[in-house]
Amino acid sequence: MDLNIDFKEKFESRHISPDSPETSQMLATVAAGSLDELISQTVPQQIRLKQPLNLPAPKSEFDYLNSLKQTASKNKVFKSFIGQGYYDTVTPPVILRNIFENPGWYTQYTPYQAEISQGRLQALLNFQTMVIDLTGMEIANASLLDEGTAAAEAMFMQFSLRTNKSANVFFVSEDLFPQTIDILKTRSAPFGIELQIGNHQTAELNDSMFGAIVQYPAGNGEVHDYSDFAASAHEKGIKLTVVADILSLCLLTPPGEWGADIVVGSTQRFGIPMGFGGPHAAYFATREEYKRSMPGRIIGVTIDSAGNYALRMALQTREQHIRRDKATSNICTAQALLAIMAGMYAAWHGPQGLKTIAKRTHGLAVLLSDALQSLGYKQLNTSYFDTIRFEAGNIAGPLHAEALNNEMNLHYDGSVVSVSLDETTSLDEVTTIIRFFAKVKGKSIHDVDLDGLKQGIQATIPAALERQTEYLAHPVFNTHHSEHEMLRYIKSLEAKDLSLCHSMIPLGSCTMKLNATTEMIPVTWPEFSKIHPFAPTDQVGGYMQVIDELNKWLSAITGFASMSFQPNAGAQGEYAGLMVIRAYHADRGESHRNVALIPSSAHGTNPASAAMAGMKIVVVKCDSNGNIDVTDLKARAEEFKDTLSCLMVTYPSTHGVFEESIIEICQIIHQNGGQVYMDGANMNAQVGLTSPATIGADVCHLNLHKTFCIPHGGGGPGVGPIGVAQHLVKYLPGHSVVDISKEKSIPAVSAAPWGSASILLISHAYIAMMGAEGLTNATKYAILNANYIKSRLESHYPVLYTGSQGRCAHEMILDCRAFKHFGIEVTDIAKRLMDYGFHAPTVSFPVAGTLMVEPTESEPKHELDRFCDALIAIREEISDVESGKADKINNPLKNAPHTAHVITDDTWDKPYSRQQAVFPLAYVAERKFWPSVGRVNDTHGDRTLICSCPPIEEYAEA
Ligand SMILES: *Cc1c(COP(=O)(O)O)cnc(C)c1O
Repeated sequence: MDLNIDFKEKFESRHISPDSPETSQMLATVAAGSLDELISQTVPQQIRLKQPLNLPAPKSEFDYLNSLKQTASKNKVFKSFIGQGYYDTVTPPVILRNIFENPGWYTQYTPYQAEISQGRLQALLNFQTMVIDLTGMEIANASLLDEGTAAAEAMFMQFSLRTNKSANVFFVSEDLFPQTIDILKTRSAPFGIELQIGNHQTAELNDSMFGAIVQYPAGNGEVHDYSDFAASAHEKGIKLTVVADILSLCLLTPPGEWGADIVVGSTQRFGIPMGFGGPHAAYFATREEYKRSMPGRIIGVTIDSAGNYALRMALQTREQHIRRDKATSNICTAQALLAIMAGMYAAWHGPQGLKTIAKRTHGLAVLLSDALQSLGYKQLNTSYFDTIRFEAGNIAGPLHAEALNNEMNLHYDGSVVSVSLDETTSLDEVTTIIRFFAKVKGKSIHDVDLDGLKQGIQATIPAALERQTEYLAHPVFNTHHSEHEMLRYIKSLEAKDLSLCHSMIPLGSCTMKLNATTEMIPVTWPEFSKIHPFAPTDQVGGYMQVIDELNKWLSAITGFASMSFQPNAGAQGEYAGLMVIRAYHADRGESHRNVALIPSSAHGTNPASAAMAGMKIVVVKCDSNGNIDVTDLKARAEEFKDTLSCLMVTYPSTHGVFEESIIEICQIIHQNGGQVYMDGANMNAQVGLTSPATIGADVCHLNLHKTFCIPHGGGGPGVGPIGVAQHLVKYLPGHSVVDISKEKSIPAVSAAPWGSASILLISHAYIAMMGAEGLTNATKYAILNANYIKSRLESHYPVLYTGSQGRCAHEMILDCRAFKHFGIEVTDIAKRLMDYGFHAPTVSFPVAGTLMVEPTESEPKHELDRFCDALIAIREEISDVESGKADKINNPLKNAPHTAHVITDDTWDKPYSRQQAVFPLAYVAERKFWPSVGRVNDTHGDRTLICSCPPIEEYAEA
């Protein structure tokens, strides 16, 4: 044989499923002569790219990992004592392998289809219970993006709840972490909220204030007793937000017990790697009375159709997509996977284990403080949890040098050196620190009576702040302490959830494509996972290389000049992009430009983000073909030409069509002084064929967790970087701790300088392994797969909206509204699909009563066929209802999904067979996925909201 043969196959052929015989069959079905012919019938000629993407040649999976190892070695993994909101932690291996590195947990979609999502809903309920218990609050949500943005959400919630509508001052403790203050600055600006930054002990609270925020322990490590401050705030009608360190709450009196109205923070140190800034789950807890104003998703307890315990996302009517321009938050994708891990960390350690970790961390801090004081250092914190500070005067420099010699990073603020200890700190490391602090003073470790000091460790937490109340008493936190039990618990929950491990998840607008193993592997390499976001730049060469390359590649793909990786989700990208546009207008003396034109078909986060950026929303009509009504757009643009800020447009449209008039649309906006913001959620239909810059946009966000392979994680993490044209580069978000600021940067939009940096590796791998041609082929196949489904289904379900040549883009809308006449709702179809082993497509977006299907390039023909067969079979079941052959109420659709319980019950009184109920097609039986509960009852749970694990007695019954 020829040994020169290249044994390393192209990654492209692993990522894109259809092979060439399948391609020919599919092209025949869609009646296109070739893939290129199909593409030219779909994508308007005038917006096609003239050149292939300028990207490096693709690497094989094997070569990619080898070369990335080299890049990784440019990161120096020093021990971090920096603190500032990021701490080293041990991810319990059972959680690392079985959740973090397990596609059964990371490839799921957001749990909108509750019946096949009970596992992660339970895991998120555990997270909420943990947060409620540790903070001492009444309700909590299922995660926010990071601590800084959670604080901003809290500020905004206080602002919208204020009773005195003229109160516009928000008191901000100067002891908040600087990155948190930074984000508060960004978020307060559009609303004329005035931040009064000061010392809480001397602040004069007054009627102009609607809220206040303090940090516990404070950013410098000091533990303050804020109870008097809380009481005087409440006297003045001022609500109080407390940013609290989750681990410290095992020892400290929880804020809920001394007057907090909202408590927010990060759960990173509960087993989530630092990852150079993220992703990590933030938490948000408040009082029951504010439940309807709370941002983010809340998981709640309810019952299913058989009256059994079931979970689902609660109070959905509060969600941003319903409230649109009335929205007070734009949170869509959050941090589900990381919240699940943090909740599992609490279940693994239990209340005793967590207390031990907290006490040990505190004890080591006391030991270090005592030892350094005995060497003559002045420790500045009187009461602290894990962070101690020293006035080092003129020896701060030598200390810094010694720390580096010992591969340790401390935190330096002028001549003050601070050290934050954590779960991973060893006694040896503490000794090393003592040794070099001694050395710098010309002394030695022998000058310290370490044994004596160890004997005499006294907690420094004042009695009044010592936690008295129990926490995590629920069995879920007291059962899974051996690895076998934990493993089985994790697997039992995983088994309840349908993920990409089972079947395609054809969610329109969400692009649930392959998350390849090679893309995921580097995320947990220590060279990437153990880096603090504020580590010195000369230790993060590897990260800088990955980020620079990704910046270059995504700029090539979008046609823009540069990107910002800060936004932690698509909606955050929208917000960041709009704030950049706002800064641009202001810089040109046109700060009165505040009107955002938004087509009626837009995703709900668009108007929500515009509202948060302080813009006035003007809705533009769509015509009967689903396209933007250009006449109406022109009229609106001219009507508001003096105040026009921007257009927000999704391309191809949320209707799944490449609008031919897009260039004209962008021109109209520019002619009237506006900028064009493109929502890049549908980028999977553009890559390599056209680009945001080509159509005329000025800014766009990308959902790296859609188009660029970051898995959905059951509702996050996400990354929503924005790309901008040259004239906007100088306004891209800066950061107050790490110097990334441009000439006229807006303040930060997320806590970490590069957002969720560690998962940028996934998109980096995808692009590096696909190359220009591979990425372009992916787009072509995404379009072919969608058109194939369309061809197979259009005689069964009307397809709403197509392009001028009858083609859809990468997704299509199936119209189910006609079935309503005989009582079949689109939800019934969604639930019935579960019996066939499928997750429903997007329900009722962008058109109520429809399904939006997006197959992606990663699905093979036979999977598309299985899905089409299911929908066709369901269509026949619908016809049976229509013709009267099946009962109007008691039919397989209305009763769906059918559980194993229902089917094995001794009595079966349905007018159709058990066979039809659960094995409606031959292929279903081969690998049946059983929904774990029957149809969930949404309203039952909303009547009395329960968003923590119910008491033991009820639990036992369930
Ligand atoms: C997903 C999506 C968004 C929001 O992105 P998140 O990452 O969930 O915040 C915005 N617009 C469209 C069209 C989307 O599909």
